[in-house]
Amino acid sequence: MQRRLAGKTAVVTGGANGIGRACCDRLAAEGANIVIADIAAADETIVDVERAGSNAFAQRCDLSSAEDVARLREKVDERFGGCDILVHNAGIYPNTPIEEITFDEWRKVLTINLDSMFYLTKAFLPNMKSKAWGRIIAMSSTVFHSGIPGYCHYSASKAGLIGFVRSLASEVGQFGITANAIAPGLVRTGTTEARLETRWFDQTVEQQAIKRTGKPADLVGPLAFLASDDAAFVTGQTLLVDGGWRFI
Ligand code: NAD
Repeated sequence: MQRRLAGKTAVVTGGANGIGRACCDRLAAEGANIVIADIAAADETIVDVERAGSNAFAQRCDLSSAEDVARLREKVDERFGGCDILVHNAGIYPNTPIEEITFDEWRKVLTINLDSMFYLTKAFLPNMKSKAWGRIIAMSSTVFHSGIPGYCHYSASKAGLIGFVRSLASEVGQFGITANAIAPGLVRTGTTEARLETRWFDQTVEQQAIKRTGKPADLVGPLAFLASDDAAFVTGQTLLVDGGWRFI
């Protein structure tokens, strides 16, 4: 494995499980120090990252709390001297018809998925600017491109991330910083397996160009590319990683 990210520090939100965990493994294999920001314990991710030869720590951080994100930044600065690569992957995706979404649930999804992007960017951008290098990558979703029922709040939050990186890209490109989004299709993780009936996976595969269910490992190559110097001229984009489910 090429170690394209040696000497860089990546902060991965939601790195304890699923797609985020796979992202940590790959960024570590590419040589980056890893910081996992999650409300869940990330011991297993840490073991994998250290086995890949990288330094890592996990910080318990509720991304809906500005105070928790401020504490996260302090810890990252102390341990690694700042964040170079921000991967905002954590998210929640309850499936609720619009008539049943309470305002509290609406705010919860928007806060955890989208407000967090604001807190995280404000926290880590100054260090990236000072080094004239940075990568900001948001995990969006093809739910935005497909309009699946029950996801008005989730889809709005993931659309918000796409809009956010476009505008941010225009502001920070002059400082050597790129901002992009990845939109996964349906990916088999602990959460989707527990939540979705088998027919959801089968129906989605039928509609994809590539006839198999997505797995967390499918996301990591595109992520590592966007995080690397190979993508220095790619910014404000959303990369669909969905086996050819949606075309934009
Ligand atoms: P997951 O549920 O397996 O993992 C999400 C992680 O985020 C967990 O470790 C969880 O503890 C953490 N998290 C949740 N709320 C948090 C909070 N308030 N503060 C800090 N951490 C918090 O999810 P996944 O399936 O791996 O999905 C990862 C991302 O990819 C999400 O943003 C999701 O919306 C997006 N996505 C997933 C799929 C899919 O099919 N799995 C498809 C499209 C997009």
